[in-house]
Amino acid sequence: MRAPRETVEALAGALLDLRDQVRPCSRCFFIAEGELCGVCSNPRRDQAQLCVVEEALDVLAIERSGEFTGLYHVLEGAISPIDGVGPEQLRVAELVERVRGGEVREVVVATDPDVEGEATAFYLAERLAPLGVSVTRLAHGLPAGSDLQYADELTVARAFSGRRAL
Ligand SMILES: [Zn+2]
Repeated sequence: MRAPRETVEALAGALLDLRDQVRPCSRCFFIAEGELCGVCSNPRRDQAQLCVVEEALDVLAIERSGEFTGLYHVLEGAISPIDGVGPEQLRVAELVERVRGGEVREVVVATDPDVEGEATAFYLAERLAPLGVSVTRLAHGLPAGSDLQYADELTVARAFSGRRAL
């Protein structure tokens, strides 16, 4: 309230610019400033590994762990019949299309360890199995019923190294 009006206007303008410039990556639906996000446009990322998460913030949690060097796919939610959310409401078709594209050899399903996340993981395993990729699921360390984005780096790192076939 003590700041000059111009300062507040400049800040408001900067926030509006940010809101207009940031959008979902056209390939993985993580946060991007252009067409592709920083992960998709990084040629050093392993194109053979694809990690599937529910929300963009989950990507940040996994990046903090430093355990994963592949690419991501953000579903923008999880399957929840009670809330009327089926695969059609999520970015599942886009995921299947990416896996069909060829380069992916392993899909790591990192949906939350709650009822919706588990249901989504099993659905994805069934959808992706015929495409000839290995589908794995994060294992140890993540508390049941919790949210991936709030997990600490070490827990996420352990969950990654302990992933198992789905
Ligand atoms: Zn991306």
